[in-house]
Amino acid sequence: MKLTNRSKVVSNKVMSTSEKIYLPEIIKGMLITGSHLFKRRATVKYPDELRPMAPVYRGQHVLKRDENGAERCTSCGMCAVACPAEAITMESGERKKGEEHLYREEKYARIYEINMLRCIFCGLCEEACPKEAIFLTDRLVDVEFEREDFIYGKDKLVEKIDKRIDVTKRQTIEVAEFKKIPGTKHNTLWNGKKIKGH
Ligand code: SF4
Ligand code: SF4
Repeated sequence: MKLTNRSKVVSNKVMSTSEKIYLPEIIKGMLITGSHLFKRRATVKYPDELRPMAPVYRGQHVLKRDENGAERCTSCGMCAVACPAEAITMESGERKKGEEHLYREEKYARIYEINMLRCIFCGLCEEACPKEAIFLTDRLVDVEFEREDFIYGKDKLVEKIDKRIDVTKRQTIEVAEFKKIPGTKHNTLWNGKKIKGH
């Protein structure tokens, strides 16, 4: 009994002699394989070979320090609120006397974590930050074997004092212009002289 009209008639054609020996089809397949030898490879030998990246590529985050080496983040939580993936968590701390060289403002992020497995690298945290503290960079997130290793803390996020990260390349013209305004400069490179208390 025919229940629907979606059934297809299966061809039961008798194979010819050339089809039975498969040789023409094998030769056809070999020619296709051979033709790929002369085509441009779609893959690269990573990590020896790297693909060029767009200047606006959004990779691993950095928590920037100011021109004196103090952490810019004031633990306001704006980045966490803006994050659509709920990837950012933090705990704030009060700056103590004598810690002015470590933290720029009275409040700082005692703990700051980003779950890289949740992050979708949208860049909204960067846009939300009123302190020019968090930026996405052209760095790739490392490969890990354990899930907990993808939770990046301050040890991986805060830039090293003697190894500043230049984020100017991936800024749009509008943002770059805005950041020329005195007081909003985020990327003054540390020259090793300005830092106090080190
Ligand atoms: S890049 Fe987007 S998803 Fe990742 S932490 Fe920032 S706001 Fe969240
Ligand atoms: S990174 Fe910026 S937005 Fe996020 S808590 Fe720190 S100062 Fe606030």
